[in-house]
Amino acid sequence: MTKDRYELFDKLCMRDVRLSEHSSYGIGGYADYFAMPATIEQLVTILEVSATYGMDRVVFGMGSNMLFPDRPKRGTLYISLKKMADVTVNGSRWFVTSGLPLSMLSVAGMITGAPEFQFTYLMPGSLGAGIYMNAKYYNEQVGDKIETVSYIDLDDPTLSLQTIRAEDCRFGYKQSIFQHNPWIIVGAKIKVPEFEGPISGGIGGLLSKYKAANGQLSSLDSFYSFFSRELRELQAGRTGIPAPMQDIERYRTQNKHFIYRSCGSFFKNNYAAGSSIGALVDRLGLKGLSHGGAIISPYHGNMILNADHATAAHILYLKDTVSEAIHRHYGFIPEPEVVIMEEA
Ligand SMILES: Cc1cc2nc3c(=O)[nH]c(=O)nc-3n(C[C@H](O)[C@H](O)[C@H](O)COP(=O)(O)OP(=O)(O)OC[C@H]3O[C@@H](n4cnc5c(N)ncnc54)[C@H](O)[C@@H]3O)c2cc1C
Repeated sequence: MTKDRYELFDKLCMRDVRLSEHSSYGIGGYADYFAMPATIEQLVTILEVSATYGMDRVVFGMGSNMLFPDRPKRGTLYISLKKMADVTVNGSRWFVTSGLPLSMLSVAGMITGAPEFQFTYLMPGSLGAGIYMNAKYYNEQVGDKIETVSYIDLDDPTLSLQTIRAEDCRFGYKQSIFQHNPWIIVGAKIKVPEFEGPISGGIGGLLSKYKAANGQLSSLDSFYSFFSRELRELQAGRTGIPAPMQDIERYRTQNKHFIYRSCGSFFKNNYAAGSSIGALVDRLGLKGLSHGGAIISPYHGNMILNADHATAAHILYLKDTVSEAIHRHYGFIPEPEVVIMEEA
């Protein structure tokens, strides 16, 4: 490998970075190593060099579905792809890189008249993780909206870009093939109706503003302010806000999604149980239960909030309390949806 690869790695790799600043939970201790590549090329360099050093790597997006440890494992390199946010428009096909916020696709769709991603409005998180998790809102899910996914297989020494068709991604309820392989999603091709107007101007302007704010958007209130402001600006320019997006905003603000720090729903629903986890927690009288700085949301039983300087240990205590109560009363152990990173 050439010397300039190592030099670029040294430039991109930061030391002693607080993971709490890259997580919507606002929880997580200091990572020894941390990088935020802005392009696929930078990502490949980081992966190549870190492999030669034998470093453990954790790749993530905006940290809105991850509980980072209070004491991260020593020597691990955390790689956030949230700066890898670009859209390349080619007629009715867009190639979107992994770090683009899902919510951006709903707002971009208002410019181009593409309704496919309206359901992602105000859903915190990036496209890459949305594919990994097959993120959903009511009956719509990310896996149904994409054509192909581009990824890097960490077991392939060439780290070359590979492509898989959506129908081969084994998308299911909060499931995908990416959860079972050491693959890093770098982007996806999506199909949208062809647009006649100056598409690159509208989306380009949105992206520039997002990039200027990027870094702060792991905080849910700044995330909400950014996207709701963009929507209002479009509305002022006489682009009507589609009714489904208005409904989403109402639902999420009523449930205080952007006031308290959280990772959204903590557990996956178990449809065989006949009720959502939120409803079961409500029936068990656990809403509002607190431990340390964490509390089970009084507004939504499936959310465990960081109300006041909670640690990962506080959140996990309440997670165990809910799991045990559901197991005792309803006979199953709920599966966490939030990705829980191990302590050192
Ligand atoms: C208030 C709130 C509301 C929410 N509402 C919803 C909702 O309605 N529906 C829903 O589905 N989710 C919801 N979520 C959860 C979350 O926003 C989604 O799961 C989102 O897709 C996570 O994106 P992220 O970039 O923050 O992922 P991260 O938290 O950064 O990562 C999540 C997982 O994906 C993996 N990952 C991330 N990027 C990549 C990549 N490029 N390649 C391979 N693996 C990757 C990570 O390793 C990790 O395991 C909500 C969260 C919050 C805080």
